[in-house]
Amino acid sequence: MNVLVIGANGKVGKHIVQKLLDSDHQPIAMIRDTDQIPFFEEMGAKTVLGDLESDFSNAFFNVDAVIFAAGSGPNTGADKTIIIDQEGAIKSVNLAKQYDVKQFIMLSSIKADQPESVNEMKHYLFAKHRADEYLKDSGLNYTIIRPGGLTNEAGTGKVQMQEHIDGFGMIPREDVAATIVHLLSVPKARNKSFDLISGQTVLDELLY
Ligand code: NAP
Repeated sequence: MNVLVIGANGKVGKHIVQKLLDSDHQPIAMIRDTDQIPFFEEMGAKTVLGDLESDFSNAFFNVDAVIFAAGSGPNTGADKTIIIDQEGAIKSVNLAKQYDVKQFIMLSSIKADQPESVNEMKHYLFAKHRADEYLKDSGLNYTIIRPGGLTNEAGTGKVQMQEHIDGFGMIPREDVAATIVHLLSVPKARNKSFDLISGQTVLDELLY
């Protein structure tokens, strides 16, 4: 499948593009700066320019699946969280519908399914929650992944993925990327949402 990766230049996004290149799928890395093109060209990945704050419909040409891995990051204000994590995701869902995309995987956050339950980062969790709920109601084939705290350690290939995990946990970004790419080809993951942290299940066997 041709897979549009929104947020491809991010720390998880780069792993996703590499895992797609290692699979049967063809990544299209959506980036917002021409300086980022050589990195992806060296990997062997196609790129398309697109900014979630303007019209990025050009990115959806000939796309079979979308992975949304963008985020405004911890160093911006709540306004950017709404504009990118919430509205950028919602616009991406609308474009995916408009362009008849077959599958949409959302990289969300642990606790986004119950934003009231956490005292810190409430605006962030509500933004993620709103985007996730919009995707669920969209009619698209979706999978929502809500990882715990992200680390830059090398992936272990082993995770815990359940529709709900009590508490909190951590997971390497590489394992999040590998899980997302794996789930693209797993019919049992369609129209489901999962919490994801490091664990004992070999991720290549998830839902088989
Ligand atoms: P990251 O490195 O900050 O990557 C975010 C990406 O979003 C960047 O590539 C950035 O582009 C892109 N982006 C931001 N604004 C954009 C815009 N207007 N148009 C297009 N792209 C835009 O984040 P990460 O560490 O990979 O995390 C990915 C996701 O996981 C985020 O949504 C985050 O909220 C979520 N998450 C994080 C944690 C955690 O512990 N940190 C836990 C759970 C979930 P540039 O490269 O051009 O800046």
